[in-house]
Amino acid sequence: MTVQAAVDVAIVGGGVVGCACAHAATQAGLRVAVFEAQRIGAGATAAGMGHLVTIDDDPAEFALACLSMRLWRAWSDWGAIERRATGTLWLAETVAQREAAHAKLARLRGAGLDADWLEPDALHAAEPRLARDLAGALRVSGDEVAYGPELAARLAAGVRAAGGRVAEMTPVASLRDDGLQLADGTRVVAGHVLLAAGCDSPRLWPARAPLPLRPRKGQLAITDRHPGYIAHALVELGYIDAAHGDADESVAFNAQPRVSGQVLLGSSRSFADTRPALDTALLARMVRRAQRFLPDIGQLQMLRCWAGFRPATPDGRPIIGRIPGGRDNQWVATGHEGLGLTTATGTASVWLDLLRGRAPAIDPAPYAPSRFAQALA
Ligand SMILES: Cc1cc2nc3c(=O)[nH]c(=O)nc-3n(C[C@H](O)[C@H](O)[C@H](O)COP(=O)(O)OP(=O)(O)OC[C@H]3O[C@@H](n4cnc5c(N)ncnc54)[C@H](O)[C@@H]3O)c2cc1C
Repeated sequence: MTVQAAVDVAIVGGGVVGCACAHAATQAGLRVAVFEAQRIGAGATAAGMGHLVTIDDDPAEFALACLSMRLWRAWSDWGAIERRATGTLWLAETVAQREAAHAKLARLRGAGLDADWLEPDALHAAEPRLARDLAGALRVSGDEVAYGPELAARLAAGVRAAGGRVAEMTPVASLRDDGLQLADGTRVVAGHVLLAAGCDSPRLWPARAPLPLRPRKGQLAITDRHPGYIAHALVELGYIDAAHGDADESVAFNAQPRVSGQVLLGSSRSFADTRPALDTALLARMVRRAQRFLPDIGQLQMLRCWAGFRPATPDGRPIIGRIPGGRDNQWVATGHEGLGLTTATGTASVWLDLLRGRAPAIDPAPYAPSRFAQALA
């Protein structure tokens, strides 16, 4: 059996979460090794829409998203990545949604975010292709769109540049008390191990009770290039209900202008369908929903459609912290569902502070793995 030189932290999974954690640990002076079964960013990270969005409906998720956005902006590569400062328009279809949006507006402003309300005429001026019968929109100016795989790849490049190791096509077989074991039998000795394998985390979960994580399928479609077709990330206000509900299947309108000029359309959520193949009936529902908000969208050619899986927890919050019932040096960071591209940097910050025995910038309790104590006992 081969034994690899010791590192301070060995990380399982090179998605955006594993790479953000590796990057933060490397910057803090720790010796880090990342092991990725495929290519960096090939999992949920490659499938995601890349909306970096300060969703505020759950206070804990909001705190993590705000911290994450601050950290993304402080990242040395931020100025160099493919991204657009689109802001988000949360679209109200009904008077009830319009009223709810005003409570949301107050919350966002209370947290210091730049947000305002657009009446229907102002909305039409900002996005002339939107349907004329909408009840207005809440504009959040600081949100952005980015390209998920690039986020992961650049974070990984930063790890390598600082002397860390990033091993692709290197599956991990199991966590060990003193590190981990690769699928080829090699033992890696590490002071700490972090399980950040997204939807595959349950397979390596060392505790006896199962990790409460379910893959939640999502589908997206991207059009050909129409620069200027829309200017903002557009999301229907009903999206939050769809994201936080536990319906077996739902669709909510979400559209983004990409740097390329393409329009990225989302999205669906499904627990019931665990097949990687596209569900074309659901895709058609998604496109019909998009036509409700962008009546002319059917004139654009759809170039590519794909499906991916979000790692979803029972309460919709990620799981960040020590593995309950495991050894003190075994950690987990997963379960980011549909927000992991946004919240990867905040996750890394919380995890690293816990590992170093420091107080995290935000309360870590809402993400503690031990909150599923019954399930994990
Ligand atoms: C359709 C869709 C739309 C989304 N839109 C957005 C969005 O707009 N904004 C947003 O913030 N988030 C979005 N997300 C969510 C976001 O993509 C995920 O939350 C995030 O990518 C999760 O990152 P991760 O690193 O935890 O998981 P992954 O990216 O899945 O990374 C886990 C990695 O672990 C590797 N791995 C697994 N097993 C092993 C093993 N045994 N050994 C070594 N490596 C292993 C996998 O190959 C994989 O690369 C979306 C997701 C989907 C599916």
